[in-house]
Amino acid sequence: MSALIALDDAALAALVKECGQPAFRAKQLREYALKGVPVEKMSSLPKPMREKLVADGVASLAVSVVQKRTSAVDGTTKFLFALEDGNVVEGVLMRYEYGSSVCVSTQVGCAMGCKFCASTLDGKIRDLTAAEMLSEVIAAAAEGAVNHVVLMGSGEPLDNYDQTVEFIRRLCVDLGLSRRHIALSTCGLCEAMDRLSREQYAPVLTVSLHAPDDELRKRIMPIALRYSVKQVVAAAKRYFEATSRRVIFEYSLIDGFNDTIECAKKLAAQLKGFPCHVNLIRLNPVKERGLAGSDKTAVKTFSDALTAMGVSNTVRRTLGADIDGACGQLRRKYLGGEP
Ligand code: SAH
Repeated sequence: MSALIALDDAALAALVKECGQPAFRAKQLREYALKGVPVEKMSSLPKPMREKLVADGVASLAVSVVQKRTSAVDGTTKFLFALEDGNVVEGVLMRYEYGSSVCVSTQVGCAMGCKFCASTLDGKIRDLTAAEMLSEVIAAAAEGAVNHVVLMGSGEPLDNYDQTVEFIRRLCVDLGLSRRHIALSTCGLCEAMDRLSREQYAPVLTVSLHAPDDELRKRIMPIALRYSVKQVVAAAKRYFEATSRRVIFEYSLIDGFNDTIECAKKLAAQLKGFPCHVNLIRLNPVKERGLAGSDKTAVKTFSDALTAMGVSNTVRRTLGADIDGACGQLRRKYLGGEP
C-alpha cells in the first residue's frame, strides 16, 4: 500500500524512521495527506525525504483523478477516480446554496442487481477500503469545501459493512464532519441497518424503496426476494427509534410502472404513522435498462397525492444530467460500455 492516507500511526512512524527523520514528521505526513497535498508539494518536509517518498511510489491519497467533468447547467462535477489496482469508480461533487456535498462510491460495481441502475450491470468487482473512500472525498474537496458526504455512488455500502463504518468514523474524527451531515443509502439490508443503528457514528439513513409493494419491488430490485417492503419499513422505524434521526426513503419514478395514484396510495399506507420523508426523483434512464423516467406531470401528481395523504416528500432535482450524472454511467462510458 503506497498511500499515506491508508497508514495508521504505527505505519507512519515506521515510514518516517525509514527515511531517517524525527518522529514529529509522522504528524506532518498525516496532516498533508488529509488535505490531499501531493508528496512533492509537502514544503515543510526536507527535499531528500520528499524525493525518497516519490521514488518509492508513495502518494497522499489512494485514488487519483483520471477524469473530471463539470456540468454547464448546475456546476455539478463528476469525477472518475483510478484506484491503485487500475479499477475506476465515480464520485460527484454537488453544489447547493448551503455548500457542497460529495457522493462517494463504496464498491467497484455492485452485486445488488437493481434493474434500473448502471452500476450493477457487470456485478460487483470488489469492495473499496475506508482509505479509498476517504480519498474520494479529499480529492473532490480540491474543487470546493465539503460540508456533506453521501454514500450514494456505486455499490451497496452495507454489503461492505466494516470498511464503510470505518470510513464514516474517519470522516467524523479525521475530517471533523458531523454524522448528521453524512447520509448512507441502502437498498434495505435489514440486519445491517439494525447493526448500523448501534454504531457510535450512525449516519443519516436513506432507504431505496422505489416500489410500494413486494410484487412491483421484486420486478426491479432482487433484494426484495430477501426482504419484504414491510420488513424494510420496520427496520427503518427501528433505525429512527435508535438514532432519533428521520429516515428518508428514495423513490425513483419510472414511467407507467410505479408512478400511478394507486402506487401513491399503497406507499402512503406502508408509511402511515412513521415520521419519515420521501425523496422523489425522476428515473435517470440508463440505455441498457429500457426503462423511462416519469414525465413532469406524473411526478407532480404523485407528489401532490402523497402530500394530501400526509406523507412528507420532496421532488429532487436531477443534477448533472448533461455529464452522465446517474450511477455508473460515466464509468461505463470510460470503460467502453455504452452509457
Ligand atoms: N446501493 C445503495 C446506494 C447506491 S445508489 C442503494 O441502493 O441505495 C443511490 C441511489 O440512486 C439509490 O436510491 C438508487 O436506487 C438510485 N438510482 C440508481 N440508478 C438510478 C437511476 N438510473 N435513476 C434514478 N435513481 C437511480
